[in-house]
Amino acid sequence: MVDKAEVLSKLDERGLIELTRKLVRAPSVNPPGRYEEVSGIMREEFEKLGLKVSIMEGEPGRPNVIGLLEGSEGKRTYMISGHMDVVPEGDPSAWRYPPFGGEVHDGKIWGRGSADMKCALAGEICALKAVLEAGAELKGNLLLGATVDDETAGPMGMKYVLERGLRAAGFPRPDMVLVGEISDMDIVGSFKGRVWYRVRVRGRTAHGGAPQFGINAIEKAIALINEMKKMELRDHPLVGRDTINLGRIEGGTKVNIVPELCTFELDVRIGPPQSTQRVKDYVESAVRRMRAIDPELNVEELTVTEDRDPLEVPEGHELVEIIKRDVKEVTGRTPAFRGSLSSGDLYYCIKSGIPGIWLGAGKLEVAHAPNEYVEIDKLVSASKVYALSILDVCEQK
Ligand SMILES: [Zn+2]
Repeated sequence: MVDKAEVLSKLDERGLIELTRKLVRAPSVNPPGRYEEVSGIMREEFEKLGLKVSIMEGEPGRPNVIGLLEGSEGKRTYMISGHMDVVPEGDPSAWRYPPFGGEVHDGKIWGRGSADMKCALAGEICALKAVLEAGAELKGNLLLGATVDDETAGPMGMKYVLERGLRAAGFPRPDMVLVGEISDMDIVGSFKGRVWYRVRVRGRTAHGGAPQFGINAIEKAIALINEMKKMELRDHPLVGRDTINLGRIEGGTKVNIVPELCTFELDVRIGPPQSTQRVKDYVESAVRRMRAIDPELNVEELTVTEDRDPLEVPEGHELVEIIKRDVKEVTGRTPAFRGSLSSGDLYYCIKSGIPGIWLGAGKLEVAHAPNEYVEIDKLVSASKVYALSILDVCEQK
């Protein structure tokens, strides 16, 4: 048995910083999703650790890189994972330092993806390296993941890994997952769900000076939107109140013509333990009610373009307890248990029955924004927490 202090003393801080910088300097902007360079680095690092490596590619050019360390007993499997893609850098002139420079200033690594979430990819690698260099031997299996297409919520990332990739490679399914998403060293275990709608209302065109001969599609749509917005909004202690946002509306051709068409899109977010079925039932009933009142209402299209249930892991879950203890041990501070507006890669895990949480060094405020950075002391702390969690979840021989 190796003690935890021994493992922590082996964490190579210099190597962790350099690897994070190297990953930031391998741009993997999605869309379109350029993974060649970043996936090559991950593969090489996993191989250096002696992992069995599988490239799980549901589509050419979208390689998930998954490494497996088999434990002596292999009764359960722990996965630590991060996504390799980053959002576009936006206007380069808004950046203080080059977006793909990975420069170090003021105790921070700067660049697109530094927080969300190349810090976690480097962190998981250096964590396992410390565990192995300390000489720990594990009973449980460990999977390290580097996935594609989180930022576009595409089907070829974690969804593909869980549904097809692991089985095809002969790798075990994880029993618990830690994703190193932006959480500022808190634990995130409660996630809002979302339903997006695209709705098209058809009216009938007429002269704008004689609107009584037409049917105004915009006015019909407004009435319908108002009815949809009457949905009861519930509160959740971690993710807050349900929300409805009218994100887009388009209709009409000219000021003096009664508009024939109006299209709008609605983003509805709800907290656990609700199901998106409640939203869909409500919307359908709202349309029925409005049609009963107004026979001229013609809802030509009512499409659900996104449908993700809200999800949560109970605060008393073993993984939450372990990570709480490990964060306290590394930083001296008990992390908060928090909620998030979206679940990213974890959606597919929790949805398929695998409990999971976020624990990462990055902060929400800087993600997807110019001047993204990760603080080096948090980067080091997160990697140390990952290392201790490997000992705790996989257990030593
Ligand atoms: Zn992310």
